[in-house]
Amino acid sequence: MAKKPVFEQWNVERSSDLYGIKNWGSGYFDVSDAGNVVITPFGENGPTVSIPEVIGGLKDRGMNLPVLLRIENILEHQISVLHDCFNSSIHELGYKGEFRGVFPVKVNQQEQVIRKIAEYGKEHHHGLEVGSKAELIAALAYLEDKEACLVCNGYKDQEFVDMALYACKMGFNCILVLEMPGELPLILERSEALNVVPQIGVRIKLSSRAGGHWVESGGDLSIFGLSTAEVVDVLDALREKGRLDSLQLLHFHLGSQISNIRDIREALREACRVYAGLVDEGAQMKYLDLGGGLAVDYDGSHTNYLSSRNYTLKEYCADIVETVMSIMDEREISHPYIITESGRATVAYYSVLLFDILDVSRLEERPVPETLPEGTPEPILNLLEVYNSISLKNLQECYNDAIYYRDEVRQMFRVGNSSLRDRSVAETIFWAIIKEIALRVDNVKRPSEEMAGIQDSLASIYYANMSIFQSLPDAWAIEQLFPVMPVHRLDEQPTEKVVLADITCDCDGKLDRFIDTRGVQRTLDLHSLRQGEAYNLGAFLVGAYQETLGDLHNLFGDTNVVSIHVEPDGSFDFVRELDGDSVADVLSYVEYDPKAVLERFRTMAERGVREKYITPSERFSIMKAYEKCLRGSTYLKACGSKTSC
Ligand SMILES: *Cc1c(COP(=O)(O)O)cnc(C)c1O
Repeated sequence: MAKKPVFEQWNVERSSDLYGIKNWGSGYFDVSDAGNVVITPFGENGPTVSIPEVIGGLKDRGMNLPVLLRIENILEHQISVLHDCFNSSIHELGYKGEFRGVFPVKVNQQEQVIRKIAEYGKEHHHGLEVGSKAELIAALAYLEDKEACLVCNGYKDQEFVDMALYACKMGFNCILVLEMPGELPLILERSEALNVVPQIGVRIKLSSRAGGHWVESGGDLSIFGLSTAEVVDVLDALREKGRLDSLQLLHFHLGSQISNIRDIREALREACRVYAGLVDEGAQMKYLDLGGGLAVDYDGSHTNYLSSRNYTLKEYCADIVETVMSIMDEREISHPYIITESGRATVAYYSVLLFDILDVSRLEERPVPETLPEGTPEPILNLLEVYNSISLKNLQECYNDAIYYRDEVRQMFRVGNSSLRDRSVAETIFWAIIKEIALRVDNVKRPSEEMAGIQDSLASIYYANMSIFQSLPDAWAIEQLFPVMPVHRLDEQPTEKVVLADITCDCDGKLDRFIDTRGVQRTLDLHSLRQGEAYNLGAFLVGAYQETLGDLHNLFGDTNVVSIHVEPDGSFDFVRELDGDSVADVLSYVEYDPKAVLERFRTMAERGVREKYITPSERFSIMKAYEKCLRGSTYLKACGSKTSC
């Protein structure tokens, strides 16, 4: 994209506005006077940690980008702020029950995440929610707090039920939530056999539905949960067995990223009525579990747009407490424990994907010839005339003509009436026209839709050293937006309009939708690259769902992962480093045996020597290079990395 003249002094405030960091950063990120993105784990006035400094520290330790950076303080703060908000609503409104948060393991199952949640959650009795045997097995090894809830959702077989019942026996506050009617007889039979009194919950289908990607998670068509008729069957079955006292929890889950608070309120009202109905029927109800849905404001617009939310955490908590309280009071039912299963909002903020830019591809400025040789085809002469006549007054006309003549040249070329050189001249003039129009298009009152998008068509492509499929799968799968911005040079004006391409060989491996407070931007403003200097970007708010959904497309594996913990004085430690997958690792995931692979290649190399393609000493070097690659990272080594350039 052609550079725009710099009219005013650029400064870090303008960068901060441009990328909206204050809108989506939730107080955790800011731009420093030096033009770096800084982490502010203790709020605006607390100490700051500069992300470029963190990257420098990693490079000194021989760890290259891409790196997934986890900031432990943010996780700790997200957990406590959720509890603080609910507790203050409870206090202010005079609610008689308590709040119990649980973290749904599926949102980020990584060991270090679950370990930290169990650790930080202890003082708040923050528990875990599991949806499979594997998640239950992990949870049982980490959840030490016996007052915290352990909610078992998901379809259950006998093994799952037995494990959950053993957990009850061991004193875990474990609740088995019925996902299907058929699970009840199994739970009753096994609890008798194992001599445990089970705590049972029911997951219901609500008729209320929310907008967004996950509309099918709620509503009558949801594949999860019991219909009203099935809930009544459960009641009858429990009554018959004399076990109505076991039914203690009502659960619903409206879907994830509910951006409109009205949807939450509507669903909750319906659920409260069901809860009251269960109490009427004699169940010893204790818990009302609202599932997940608390949204993250990825684009910072504070709207009910898909990537945002039109409410604050305070409003969310106050609304919930107030709604539950008013219905329970009306029915003279004692206030239940309120459980939420916030996953996304708990972990999204705490991970940042840091990656470098490897290269750029852009339309080169080529000189437009002043005259054309004799015999040049007519449409090319016309293109040149268009180029020489561009003015603000005839911009749309020039645009239409340029497209028309370019297509004519292409057609001539196809049928053999113009040469390769002719075509190349035509393309040069065509793109020169487009650039000239792009420079002026902002001054046109009502440009055609095509012409309005002309600047996007001139976007440069920056090659990002990462795989969208591995690190930001939702950006590809459901077009989710994440805030992406440079982590340094923010005291400089970005001069390029850019689309990011990753290093997979997939045309879907790109980012060309970016956050904007009024919709979606097709390009991202970035700085031009400097020779021999790294240019580093961050994709923020990536802590939820991305890691396990990520896949091995093109065999790019897990990135390096680093956790930092910031002290109140602003110093920080690298508390944990996990090396990403090596080439050997990813090959073994797809059933290669790295040793056998090496052996096969050795045979190939030996044959190469025998057949005189290579010398024995060349074989030695080639084998060394092969082995080094096999042990090394799947990502590329960019300029400025310690190991090579
Ligand atoms: C996925 C899921 C959640 C997490 O939802 P978020 O919107 O990420 O908070 C909670 N509960 C259940 C049952 C889920 O399936």
